[in-house]
Amino acid sequence: MSRRKPAPRRRTPAPAPAVTAGSPCPCGLDASYGACCGRFHAGTGATAPTAELLMRSRYSAFVVGDAAYLLRTWAPEARPATLDLDPGTRWTGLEIRATTDGTAFHQRGTVTFRAGYVQDGEPGVLDEHSRFVRHDGAWVYVDGDFPED
Ligand SMILES: [Zn+2]
Repeated sequence: MSRRKPAPRRRTPAPAPAVTAGSPCPCGLDASYGACCGRFHAGTGATAPTAELLMRSRYSAFVVGDAAYLLRTWAPEARPATLDLDPGTRWTGLEIRATTDGTAFHQRGTVTFRAGYVQDGEPGVLDEHSRFVRHDGAWVYVDGDFPED
């Protein structure tokens, strides 16, 4: 996902439940955050082994507000200089709809997903077809198409 902070900024952030290592992972897999996307966010060397798991971990990074992870898993040529996450957006769910390649045997991959959110009290969905490549052996996000934009 590449959505950046839209204007106008909400004055009071939407309440979001705190995610801890023992929480169900925001990405929707049947695992705790600490054992799933959290181990990639920790920056201790673990990297997502597939494009889909990178996509899931980036979604979870939006949920927990880990902009640093989003930036370091962005392809260098496409990475923004800074990333301000919108405190008025609360992500509510991720559905992986399709993938191509993106496994241990590939250098490229795509993930098509739908992410739900509530922004300033209004529910919405983000549909994106994202492209991923390997950079120094690790999967990184390149960019995406937004069919409903
Ligand atoms: Zn996860």
